[in-house]
Amino acid sequence: MRYVIPEQIRRRFGEALRIDEPLAPHTSFRIGGPADLFIAARTRDDIADAVTAAEAAGLPWIVLGRCSNVLIHEDGIRGLVIRNDASSFTFDPRTGVVQCDSGARLPSVGAQTARAGLAGLEWAVGIPGSVGGGVVMNAGAHGGCIADVLAYAEILDHGQRSQYPAAALEHSYRVSRLQRERDLVVLGAEFHLTPCAPAECLARVQSFRRHRQETQPTDPGAGSIFRNPPQASAGALIDRAGLKGTRHGGALISPKHGNFIVNVDHATFADVVALIDVARTTVARQFGIDLHPEVEFLGPEGRLSLDEVHRL
Ligand SMILES: Cc1cc2nc3c(=O)[nH]c(=O)nc-3n(C[C@H](O)[C@H](O)[C@H](O)COP(=O)(O)OP(=O)(O)OC[C@H]3O[C@@H](n4cnc5c(N)ncnc54)[C@H](O)[C@@H]3O)c2cc1C
Repeated sequence: MRYVIPEQIRRRFGEALRIDEPLAPHTSFRIGGPADLFIAARTRDDIADAVTAAEAAGLPWIVLGRCSNVLIHEDGIRGLVIRNDASSFTFDPRTGVVQCDSGARLPSVGAQTARAGLAGLEWAVGIPGSVGGGVVMNAGAHGGCIADVLAYAEILDHGQRSQYPAAALEHSYRVSRLQRERDLVVLGAEFHLTPCAPAECLARVQSFRRHRQETQPTDPGAGSIFRNPPQASAGALIDRAGLKGTRHGGALISPKHGNFIVNVDHATFADVVALIDVARTTVARQFGIDLHPEVEFLGPEGRLSLDEVHRL
């Protein structure tokens, strides 16, 4: 632990503040070293207060959701990690308006709104992330994505809380403005769904779940490692390159889905990066296509590009 704990954070969070918290158990990859300081934030106010106090004290901070799209280095993360457990949501089956804290789990919101006869988030049932992570990543599947149904997000920007209409977030395929402006934190989101027969919504949920069971591995991982290049599927390219089943240390390119790298036996950050490199160089050589990671890399100083990962 390199930092003195800011008094404002100690007073506000007391016992809830953890020191040298191992991050691996919080991640879907089950990889990653400790956070110097760690808070599980239960409300939007918790998140806002933690970020504001860290900014005032000059302490580096990062907000994480369900950690289902991150690969964290064994050296962990310096400063304050705020894990978003603000997970309430409400919806009105008559109007289709869904209001979520940003830590609400996408599968819960997708399943409960579908059961209530609201169409538009059925695709989210298989995405193990938070609403906030989904808004940042413009998460999506089965032809749907966050941008299709988002009305606005409540954003924290250097102590100011305001509502950003969806258009202001500049969503495109797995991209948003929030990936460039990392000081902005999603505190909440409002979705507008369409009333529909519950049986129809639930049939879509079942078929999406079945499709995942049939096509995707269940070992620890982060879902798709690469973004799909234009007009192509990263998984299909990796499969055609003959790389399914390639192993490095405890990490494996899933034999079930080429775009999934999974942690099968105490894989390290470097094991996963080695397979990412194999997939990128092989696909570039064979097909002349550059694959770009969808998963985010986090190291001691925060987010890293793949070039920075190679220089670690
Ligand atoms: C088995 C599996 C299947 C998956 N399938 C899909 C899929 O079909 N489609 C898809 O799009 N994704 C998929 N994913 C990836 C992942 O679930 C999504 O990207 C999800 O949106 C990430 O949300 P999260 O809460 O886990 O974000 P995290 O991994 O916790 O964070 C991702 C990034 O967003 C930032 N962030 C998180 N919350 C906030 C916030 N409130 N405010 C500001 N920044 C924030 C973090 O700092 C980090 O930079 C899958 C993952 C797994 C493990």
